[in-house]
Amino acid sequence: MSTPVCSHLDTIAFTEVPEHIAGCEDCLKIGGTWLHLRMCMECGGIRCCDDSPNKHASKHAREASHPIIRSAEPGEDWSWCFVDNVAFVIE
Ligand SMILES: [Zn+2]
Ligand SMILES: [Zn+2]
Ligand SMILES: [Zn+2]
Repeated sequence: MSTPVCSHLDTIAFTEVPEHIAGCEDCLKIGGTWLHLRMCMECGGIRCCDDSPNKHASKHAREASHPIIRSAEPGEDWSWCFVDNVAFVIE
């Protein structure tokens, strides 16, 4: 992939998903449930995907202006920029 697809790569501070994840940190506070987990690549926060009832990952991205998440699901390595609306993989 030679063309840069996302102009926010310099916001990435966390690339590796933690080994032990309790769940969506915002759902855990309110007793919510989630389907899939995503990690904010700017602050490392773990939150739930847009298929989950509370959509905490995209909510956090908007509220904190942290543009990029990656999947925190086992075996998944894709990232997504909410500003550019583009998926990519960080090598
Ligand atoms: Zn971007
Ligand atoms: Zn959640
Ligand atoms: Zn964040």
